[in-house]
Amino acid sequence: MDLRFNISLASGYKSATQIARVLTEDWLARNMYCPICGEISIKKAETNAPVRDYICEHCKSQYELKSKKEKTDKYITKVNDGVYRTMIDRITSLDNPSFFFMHYDNYEVNNLIIVPKCFFIPEVIEKRKPLAKDARRAGWEGCNILLKQIPDFAKIPIIRNGVVLDPKSVCNEYNRVYSLQTNSIEKRGWLIDVLKCVERLDTTFTLKQMYKFVEELKNKHPANNNIEAKIRQQLQYLRDKGFIDFSSRGKYKKIDL
Ligand SMILES: [Zn+2]
Repeated sequence: MDLRFNISLASGYKSATQIARVLTEDWLARNMYCPICGEISIKKAETNAPVRDYICEHCKSQYELKSKKEKTDKYITKVNDGVYRTMIDRITSLDNPSFFFMHYDNYEVNNLIIVPKCFFIPEVIEKRKPLAKDARRAGWEGCNILLKQIPDFAKIPIIRNGVVLDPKSVCNEYNRVYSLQTNSIEKRGWLIDVLKCVERLDTTFTLKQMYKFVEELKNKHPANNNIEAKIRQQLQYLRDKGFIDFSSRGKYKKIDL
């Protein structure tokens, strides 16, 4: 995998945004394998397809690429995306793509991750202010993807600080993380909320520590009167999927989480 962009493609473009788009999209189409089935390449979809930039011709998985000029392996900042409504519709129809997030600098990739599609829920998508009345596309409502709302373990590294990771391990990790997929948006939301709490605790933790998040979760889910039960249910699910262990009564241990 050559991390450098093909700079010759930039000629003829004036805007920095356009140049970045052309170079990063070209790079991905030339270098990226399918992180789900391991197929050697993924193909760029026809332009203007809604939220569907790339497709794997083998397993038919869809991908979108978002890139930013940054030099860090932390993905916490907001990323611009397209139309808010389109994005929400795609997510709730469960036919959404998985996302590549790329950081680049000096015309080369330094960090690249893949986030499985099951980690996109409405709370991850922020509506931007509609464009002003005098704008060319007045009233147009874009959106941001809030990367800090996505659990860290769902941000699977492909390139970390200039080092290309083994594709086979990336595929294994993708499929392990994706095993948490459920078809209900509500269940996805609870799972993500509880996972984000678990990530704030040490490798071994107690149920009592988890209950300290009850107030916080109650603010997010005011209609739910049994947050404790929801927490236990999600912990059970994570145990069934092999992400945590119940070591003894009320004590838990993370496994590769
Ligand atoms: Zn594939």
